[in-house]
Amino acid sequence: MKIVIADPLPASAGELLRSEGWTVIDSKGLPPGGLDFAVSDADGLIVRSATKVSSNLIDQAPRLRVIARAGTGVDNVDLAAASARGILVLNAPGANSISVAEHTVALMLAAARSIPLADAQMKAGNWEKKSHRGVELRGKTLGIIGLGRIGREVARRAAAFDMTVIAHDPFIVAPITGDTGIPLTSLDELFERADFVTLHLPSTDSTRGLINRKRLKKSKRGIRIINTARGDLIDEPALTEAILSGHVANASLDVFLKEPPADLSLTGLPQVLATPHIAASTVEAQEQVGLEAAASLRDYLCSGIVRNAVNFPSVPTEDMNRLQPYINLADRLGSFLAQLSSGSPIQAIGIRYYGAIAEGNTEMLVGSALVGIFRQILSSSVTLVNAGSIASERGLEVIESRSSRSRNFASVISLKLHTEHGELWAEGALFEPNSPRLVRLDGVEIEVPLDGTLFVIRNNDKPGVIGEVGTILGQNGINKATFALGRHTEGAVGVVRVESTNQPATDSTANARAIDELRQIPAVQKAGIATIP
Ligand code: NAD
Repeated sequence: MKIVIADPLPASAGELLRSEGWTVIDSKGLPPGGLDFAVSDADGLIVRSATKVSSNLIDQAPRLRVIARAGTGVDNVDLAAASARGILVLNAPGANSISVAEHTVALMLAAARSIPLADAQMKAGNWEKKSHRGVELRGKTLGIIGLGRIGREVARRAAAFDMTVIAHDPFIVAPITGDTGIPLTSLDELFERADFVTLHLPSTDSTRGLINRKRLKKSKRGIRIINTARGDLIDEPALTEAILSGHVANASLDVFLKEPPADLSLTGLPQVLATPHIAASTVEAQEQVGLEAAASLRDYLCSGIVRNAVNFPSVPTEDMNRLQPYINLADRLGSFLAQLSSGSPIQAIGIRYYGAIAEGNTEMLVGSALVGIFRQILSSSVTLVNAGSIASERGLEVIESRSSRSRNFASVISLKLHTEHGELWAEGALFEPNSPRLVRLDGVEIEVPLDGTLFVIRNNDKPGVIGEVGTILGQNGINKATFALGRHTEGAVGVVRVESTNQPATDSTANARAIDELRQIPAVQKAGIATIP
């Protein structure tokens, strides 16, 4: 594997990737304009905010499978171009949460005690002891708007100061806040009750200007506001007015509508404590952000684990550990059936989950089955990122269903391809985490590991067929085969499994000859072949 780190990252990020035995090209080693050339054979690319990952750059990188942004915003990555190529885009959103939460608490304490002003007076040689009377945090109500990663960290720290914490977050369901013990309120109630309000939500069309004239009017007199999220969440002229009128006691701001601010009308006020967007600027966050981006990129390239994806839903690590073997199983089932369909156009795909696997997030399972199918059909790269959109572009109907019934196995994945020439149906289960098996084919119970080369034969149930199959395979030099048989009313289904050798070219000629000859056996109705990668 080759990874290009286009912007400066802590050394630990490169070391993590080199420890996999991968080639890592560092930004320091890139000549000016050398990025296009460096990515031409790269599997992964890591950037901070400086490098622009344009569609042109993506076009220069035919092997690229993943772009990791060491940081949160991905404005510098052309997401549409990456998604169209099936390239996963990751970020490292949680790496700086603690730093931002600590900065928020620092601002809150500094505001409560006017520390910056007291310090400035000291530096000017003034001992203004009498003019400072602060407030305690103890017993005050903190209203958190946005109870995500940073909001929750702030809540934990505020609780240690004996504050009463309330929160507003319309996208959080009550049981989650139940764990943290934070009561959710409406935005109006939060502003009515809070002594301190802190913002930890994203800037969107609906949140821009959230703190405006109307909202400030309804807030408690003497409220203190902290913003370490995004500047445009606050209507700055309205805040300036409310401070000048004495309604707002203090505003502590790390982020601004325009950065740096165009004038000092807000930041120049003594009631305003301002820092230049530095909440995440700590040694630890910078280190962590690089490491987190590198680790997510490594996990995707090594084991297909999708974490912190921007153009594909992420799955928590514990769910991912449980899902991973089934993702592999779904891919194999898809690949198996697509090969047996022998080019017959697929019109619809049905996927059904049985047992425990049916109860969790199945988005990656259907995506993986599609990847397995399309890998056999399409020349362009198909990944979990673009499999769903490729299916809809091709007018392929995808029907998912689930049953909590566990059948003979804890979990079963059942995949059906509806093709122009009939249905193909296979079911798979895991015997051990790394042992995906075919357990049913066209409704007939059968048991074969889903790997190597699988010859699939439907035949009239007559004596001697197996002998003839064995002879043909032997004559074509196909040895080390294991047979699995299943019977049903219309005949028998047989699968002959041959372990892959390291001479795929020789194998494929012999396999093609063998399949032709198998089809000549009078009792054989159909014969097909699938090689599972
Ligand atoms: P997060 O995605 O973990 O949490 C955001 C929360 O906001 C979510 O729980 C979401 O449900 C909630 N939310 C969305 N819309 C809302 C609404 N209308 N009202 C109330 N809640 C709403 O994000 P995070 O990592 O905690 O980051 C929070 C903010 O901090 C973001 O704006 C981010 O850009 C900013 N940030 C700033 C710095 C800095 O240097 N100052 C660094 C990192 C992050």
